[in-house]
Amino acid sequence: MARFRIALIAHDQMKNQMVEWAERHRLQLAQCDIVATGTTGGRILERCPELSITRMKSGPMGGDQQIGALIAEERIDGLVFFVDPLSPHPHDVDVKALTRLALVYNIPMACNPATAELMVAGYMATR
Ligand code: PGA
Repeated sequence: MARFRIALIAHDQMKNQMVEWAERHRLQLAQCDIVATGTTGGRILERCPELSITRMKSGPMGGDQQIGALIAEERIDGLVFFVDPLSPHPHDVDVKALTRLALVYNIPMACNPATAELMVAGYMATR
């Protein structure tokens, strides 16, 4: 079976939770092809250096759009995007565009830690 291609993004206030999620599921993630926005990927690699992560630009510098393009090219199977609902973001329009493409292409999208747990349990675990 083809490897699961997953994209990981976390806003600044959510990065600790993303790192903890990734560490908890490092065995499953090791079976995936991972892309991440720049800072998120760097933070995960500090904790889980064995993971192979392709790092895009930082989100505010276009990283969300780069991942959106991969979704449009049908090169992403799932998106874990820990959105901070309490802070304003300069790249809010990019966030909206990215989540819209995930809807258009009907890929599983976990926007908070609770849903990301379900994604691992119900989707990645079956692969
Ligand atoms: P970052 O980007 O991982 O480079 O911080 C995430 C974002 O804010 O979209």
